Amino acid sequence: MSRIFGPVASRRLGRSLGIDVVPYKICSFDCIYCECGKTTDLTCSRSEFFPIGEIIGEFSERIASISEKPDVITFSGAGEPTLYSRLGELISEVKRISSLPVAVLTNTSLFGREDVRDELMNADIILPSLDSATEESFLRINRPHPGCSLESIISGLEIFLSRFTGRVNIEILLIEGINSGEDDLKALKAVLDRVRYDSIQLNTAVRPGTLDEVRPMARNQLEKIMDFFGSRCEIVAETPARALHEEAVSEHQILKIVERRPSSAMDLHLALGYPIQELVKHLAVMTAKGQVSVSRKEGLTFYTATDRSSS
Ligand code: SF4
Repeated sequence: MSRIFGPVASRRLGRSLGIDVVPYKICSFDCIYCECGKTTDLTCSRSEFFPIGEIIGEFSERIASISEKPDVITFSGAGEPTLYSRLGELISEVKRISSLPVAVLTNTSLFGREDVRDELMNADIILPSLDSATEESFLRINRPHPGCSLESIISGLEIFLSRFTGRVNIEILLIEGINSGEDDLKALKAVLDRVRYDSIQLNTAVRPGTLDEVRPMARNQLEKIMDFFGSRCEIVAETPARALHEEAVSEHQILKIVERRPSSAMDLHLALGYPIQELVKHLAVMTAKGQVSVSRKEGLTFYTATDRSSS
């Protein structure tokens, strides 16, 4: 299965070709809002999950086959990219092959490590997430591996941003009743006031997370919080209709499966081979269009065709 996906139309980055370097579902966090599903291997140990030569080969082939080049190459996926132990070398190779800007979406869990900070220096755009600056909310929302301490994340982020010269868009994902209280927001602002960034991007859970009680924040609440963070803060919460893939993740293929039996994004990933992240986006669009309905069982989200004649 290729580690390269897209290009996808990303509101935050433009037309983006993705590289997913971590197997499903290895992550250093088990966020309650994770749209990719529950983390099954919670770890903060770095590893070369796939041979670097293979990823570079797949990337070279893919980029050469795209007629209209993407705006950016993005390391992201269904896990934390900095867990890939040769990420620094991979970033350098991708830049050498394509000359395109490289972005990294990261949960910042490993920013306490000097090697990780050094490897990210070669990227052009960093999108670090920081959902909470208080221990209690951090543990509730991100459910980290015990090896990831909030203190080391914040101090590592400060060190990194004092040296990094590229673009920095900090994402904060807010969940009503978990990390959206006044104390939480003040603690976050105190950290953000100490670091350099280009923008703060406010998000909320718009697709099913791993817990049923995860609910999106109301737009007017997000707007008040945006004012609180100041002029470089924007709301990036997507509506499902925004989540589009310009290359065919086939809705027809998805419908063929979900009309036979309720299926999770993981079931569809295994059956069709599309990246989970892309499937989740398409399933959100299909849910909004009424093509599939959503049900929950044992913490997992299942999709079923609403109209058996639709496929
Ligand atoms: S949202 Fe990101 S950091 Fe959180 S569990 Fe999912 S993949 Fe990991």
